Order: sequence, then C-alpha cells, then structure tokens
Amino acid sequence: MKSKIVLVTGGAGYIGSHMVRALSGAGYRVVVFDNLSTGHRQLVPRGVPFHKGDIRNPKALAAVFAAYKIDAVVHFAGLIAVGESVVQPLSYYDNNVAGSLRLLEAGVAAKVKCFVFSSTAAVYGPSRTPRFSENAVLAPGNPYGASKLMLERIIADTALSTGLRFMLLRYFNASGASADGSTGEWHEPETHLIPNILRAVRNDTPIKVFGDDYPTKDGTCIRDYIHVEDLCAGHLAALKALEAGSSSGVFNLGTGRGHSVLDVIRAVEAVTGKKVTVSVKPRRPGDAACLVADPTRARKVLGWKACRGLTEIVRSAWAWELS
Ligand code: UDP
Repeated sequence: MKSKIVLVTGGAGYIGSHMVRALSGAGYRVVVFDNLSTGHRQLVPRGVPFHKGDIRNPKALAAVFAAYKIDAVVHFAGLIAVGESVVQPLSYYDNNVAGSLRLLEAGVAAKVKCFVFSSTAAVYGPSRTPRFSENAVLAPGNPYGASKLMLERIIADTALSTGLRFMLLRYFNASGASADGSTGEWHEPETHLIPNILRAVRNDTPIKVFGDDYPTKDGTCIRDYIHVEDLCAGHLAALKALEAGSSSGVFNLGTGRGHSVLDVIRAVEAVTGKKVTVSVKPRRPGDAACLVADPTRARKVLGWKACRGLTEIVRSAWAWELS
C-alpha cells in the first residue's frame, strides 16, 4: 500500500518537529510547511521535504498542494504566547485566523480528506470545577485562545459543507523533549515555564514567578503539563481514527493532573540537583488560575492516554537544554 502524505504546517517548530518524527515513525510520508518565523530549519529531519512559506500566502500554499497529493493536514503553524497575544491581538488574529483560512481554502481546493488542528485549553473560561471536560464553558480569556476557538468553529462549518473530516485537539501545556535528543523546545524569546526555570538554573539567575496570589493551593497557577511525545501520540491516534472512518471530534489532550508553578520548580530542583531562586512578580495578563484536562473522552474514543509524568518531562527538557 502507498504511504499516505501528511502536510505538517509549523513542522519546524516545537510540537510540529516532534510530530514530523512521530508521523515518519508511523510510516507516513511527511511534508513540512513553515515560515521559520519562530521555527528552526535544523529541527526538520534530513530527507523530509521542507517548504519555506507563510500560511497567509495563498500562492505558497497552492504550490505545496500542487506538488504532492496530500491526504491529511496537521496544522500547528501559528502564534502561541498568551501574554504576547494580549499586547498584539491583531497579529494573533492575522496569523492564527486569517492564515488558517487560507490553509483551509487551499486544502479544500486540493480535496484533502482529514484535518487535525492544534487547538488549546485556552479556549475554556474560568470554572468552579478543577478539571475541564470538552463540554466546559468556552470563554477564552485572551486573544490567543479566542483565535483558536474561532478556528474550531470555522473548521467545523467548513466540514459541514465540504465533507472534510477533522479533529480539534485542545492541548494543555506541551513540555519536555524527544527521548532521542534530536528536537526540543526552542523559542526566542522563551516564555514557557519549564525552559525558563532550566535556563535560570543554568545561568544561576532567579526565575520570575508571575503571581503568587491565585486561588490555588500555594497561590501560583496550576497547569496540566503533558509530554510533547505523548501529545504527538494523541495526534497520531486522532489521525488514525479519522482514517478508520471515525466521525470528526474535539478532544482534550492532557494528563488530568495539575501542577503549580512551585511544584514545577521543585521537580526541576530534584532533577538538576540545583536550588532555584524565585522572584515573585505581578500576575501575567491573560493567565488563568487553573487549567487541567479531563482527558476521559480521548481515552475512551481514541484509546489514547498520556504515559509520562512531570519528572520525565523535566528530565528530557534538561537533557535538551544541556545539549
Ligand atoms: N510562568 C512563570 N514564569 C515564567 C513563565 C511562566 O511564572 O517565566 C507561569 C505562567 O504565568 C503560567 C505558567 O507558568 O501560570 C505556565 O505558563 P507557560 O507560559 O509555560 O504556559 P501557558 O499556560 O501560558 O500556555
């Protein structure tokens, strides 16, 4: 049987570059499309076709869809920093919404059958319950989450009229690095907690903790940190379900366990054997107090579950940081 061809947008980025490896390992042919605004060409494995282009550019997209008979799109390309989205909302709507519209148009024109979309837990509003199921209230507290929620709706509407089938994957906090050390988190500037703590350890500087007065067990924000390789396994399970004829769906990809910022700092201290110095700062605009997945649906429908815990996440991230 001929291998299916999957277009990975944002395949030179953090999660995308792990997904490229997961897809190749599962026997797919992979094509990467990335504008390298935040991604790195070096993170795309040798031998994987790479197209430098922007999803907002219809000509660049048309060229890729003309060059390959693409069966499925896994769409990661986009801007991802919650705090930045509050300051630059128009960039977020332009890249994440307008860009994704162009990608959908090109995909529909090329008769792509399956679309897997990188959504986010940031689509959920504040909740009294500690964990979010997919039926929780959708009320994003920042432009990043709003841009992803808009796309969820646009994809679902497009599917109704075209027969495209889709999976909307709401991820919690992707973290860690590949077990083989070939790729990991590499953002400039880095805004995410775990790499920032690891850099603070390396440079012997304090880690800024954004807010210690949240209504949580220790006053710092709680997140559900999911190993990036578990996350990619979830995408693979979603894609395979679509290929097997399953209906479109929306799924949380998380572990179901929450860790506060201070918990993560303690995990880093345990893994690195170094003391972390904390500097408490004001809350970061747009941050929710607590975001933890209820991953039951993904387990039941996709047969997927995250296997790696916080220690393994920090260990792999530390190995990547030192590489
Ligand atoms: N955070 C922090 N210091 C940092 C980076 C992040 O205290 O240098 C906090 C942030 O306010 C949030 C949590 O760590 O409560 C996770 O933030 P991150 O940016 O990693 O992911 P997000 O949840 O925003 O997608």
